[in-house]
Amino acid sequence: LSSEYPAEVDLPAPKELKPSYDVVIIGGGGHALATAYYLSKYHGVTNIAVLEKAYLGGGNTARNTAVIRSNYLTSEGVRFYAESVKLFRDLSNEFDFNIMYSERGQLTLAHTDATVRAFRQRAEVNKHFGGRTEMIDRQQIRELVPTLNLDPGHLPVLAGLWHIDGATARHDAVAWGYAKQAAKRGVEIHQLTEVQDFVVENNHVTAIRTNRGTVRCGCAVQAVAGSSSLLLNKLGIRAPIHTYPLQAMVTQPFKPFLDPLVSSSALHCYVQQTSRGEIVIGGGSDPYPLYNTRSTLDLKESLLAHAIEMFPFMANAKLMRQWAGITDMTPDYSPIMGLSPLDNYYLDAGWGTWGFKATPICGKTMAELIASGGKVPELIAPFSLARFSTFQQVNEMGATAASH
Ligand code: FAD
Repeated sequence: LSSEYPAEVDLPAPKELKPSYDVVIIGGGGHALATAYYLSKYHGVTNIAVLEKAYLGGGNTARNTAVIRSNYLTSEGVRFYAESVKLFRDLSNEFDFNIMYSERGQLTLAHTDATVRAFRQRAEVNKHFGGRTEMIDRQQIRELVPTLNLDPGHLPVLAGLWHIDGATARHDAVAWGYAKQAAKRGVEIHQLTEVQDFVVENNHVTAIRTNRGTVRCGCAVQAVAGSSSLLLNKLGIRAPIHTYPLQAMVTQPFKPFLDPLVSSSALHCYVQQTSRGEIVIGGGSDPYPLYNTRSTLDLKESLLAHAIEMFPFMANAKLMRQWAGITDMTPDYSPIMGLSPLDNYYLDAGWGTWGFKATPICGKTMAELIASGGKVPELIAPFSLARFSTFQQVNEMGATAASH
């Protein structure tokens, strides 16, 4: 690892840590960098350090399959993710840096009557909040994706949920764009800087201990994806997070044959073609909790079996890469955002398998929260840590599964 930034980003050279910052943001992924950007651009807060233990955007931001969508199940979820999709559409202009936003629609397949019923509900909730989501029949699916096998084994496709707003973007570019624009406004981004412990006085985090020394802070926010519980444990904060590896893989490139993103929760698989022609294949998390980013043969075999049921010609495809990230799963498949039991410590956690699409709206709302000194924006109020004690879960399990 080098403390230099990727050439594309063109950031100022790394500096020594200052003794004190108004805001310390822990983690150097998309969420952290977006928070720094919105704070510096829209709230005039620039005395900020972003502390990243490894390299910029090298966590789940670099490992995800870039699905962007807002076709969730609950009104809280749909409103939140729809705002993110809106921000994504204009990010390349906002950054003056191409994030390769590509709107190609997302098709989710229903193989049972129960799923058809659930999709109808999702389509109606989505329409109510201005999203473009509708039910389509087999003939319409055939026209959209002629190469798709509509009768895989014991699970024929009955209908589909067609979400025209479904999109992808170059994930690294999202992190780099936020980093570049935040750094331009004075935010310091420190790579190879691991947060190891906290100094807590009178229910405040007053300082943060790192491998490069201790820094004082006015307030701090953690946006460390799969490491959320590790930091929360150091602060004695309990959260219902279980951490699982999540794997994905990519084939050799093919000529363009697949425009929409296609997913099937019954087959635990989603498939999409990148702008380079490669086919990205992903599915659900590994079946056991673990802190490890190794790839496994088991997952490769089971995922590919399902991908081939969906697109039989892929039986002859060569796999080029397989990788994993570490994902923090919550019981209701919604994030944990907002206040913590400590007065000046904020949470952007529990992002499981679905947080890339939320990067812009997380940054924007977390910045509002921090700048206001703890006034929780209405959009993220439903995602509080406290919801697990008051039984106000936001259940998105049915709309997350293998679709991310
Ligand atoms: P990260 O990018 O992981 O950033 C957190 C950073 O914190 C890391 O760089 C890490 O090194 C750093 N860190 C950790 N501990 C410390 C510490 N103690 N001190 C300092 N730094 C620390 N989401 C979607 O919306 N669509 C998808 O298609 C999708 N597909 C996915 C596929 C895979 C294989 C995986 C693994 C995830 C996928 N996700 C998807 C989920 C998504 O990637 C994450 O939810 C999202 O990237 C989280 O962003 P982040 O900025 O919070 O985390």
